[in-house]
Amino acid sequence: MLLNIKELNKTFGDLHVLKDINLSVGKNEFVAILGPSGSGKSTLFQLIGGNQTPNQGEILLNGESINGKTGFISYMPQQSSLFPWRTVLENVVLAAELNGKPDYEEAKLWLEKVGLAEFANSYPIELSGGMKQRVSFIRALLSKQNLLCLDEPFSALDEFTRLKMQKWLLSVWEENRKSILFITHSIEEALFLADRIYILSKRPAQVKAEIKVPFSRPRDESLLETNEFFL
Ligand code: ADP
Ligand code: MG
Repeated sequence: MLLNIKELNKTFGDLHVLKDINLSVGKNEFVAILGPSGSGKSTLFQLIGGNQTPNQGEILLNGESINGKTGFISYMPQQSSLFPWRTVLENVVLAAELNGKPDYEEAKLWLEKVGLAEFANSYPIELSGGMKQRVSFIRALLSKQNLLCLDEPFSALDEFTRLKMQKWLLSVWEENRKSILFITHSIEEALFLADRIYILSKRPAQVKAEIKVPFSRPRDESLLETNEFFL
């Protein structure tokens, strides 16, 4: 297993948010997390990303503890964390910049793939919510860790763009051999994308069910064709 979470507990004061969470993600696996609003899904990602520390339990990446450590996963938070004073392109290379290797050409290529090439020099305030989500997505992708954690990445998109992004994510996943942990509140989205689904209870979030998706995704090339994606 790439990611192994064991008996994870998190409280904020008296508020018990995560309770005895056990969860894993295998190499090249696509895992979705479903759960009610306010149950603790984003908090779980904060812990995996090292922005919060657990009260109890372990988060292991390749067998090593990453409790409280940042920089080990690619993470797209639920709330836009784009810097308003940086252009789209400057935002996209941010994570790579922290690793010391910003590649502007590669960044431009990815922006083009999600239909945002012409916004490279725009500022976040000039973008719609859906566009900002796509920029955050590219930024996470370019931090190039093996585990990509996406917190409701397509929630601000219209149906049409969401479908395009879902198909595109599958092709990115297949081409780049990533492991993906994906939070959504759409059962349909989870079934379409994931190999395995964890269902969390309301707060304090506990794993209520783990479902292995019993059918394979449609994988024919025409479905994953990305050329005509972004209008
Ligand atoms: P979800 O993503 O499932 O909607 P969250 O993880 O965002 O849920 O939030 C779970 C609960 O934890 C909510 O009640 C929220 O108010 C609370 N919470 C999240 N972060 C903090 C924090 N830093 N301090 C205090 N309470 C928090
Ligand atoms: Mg959330």
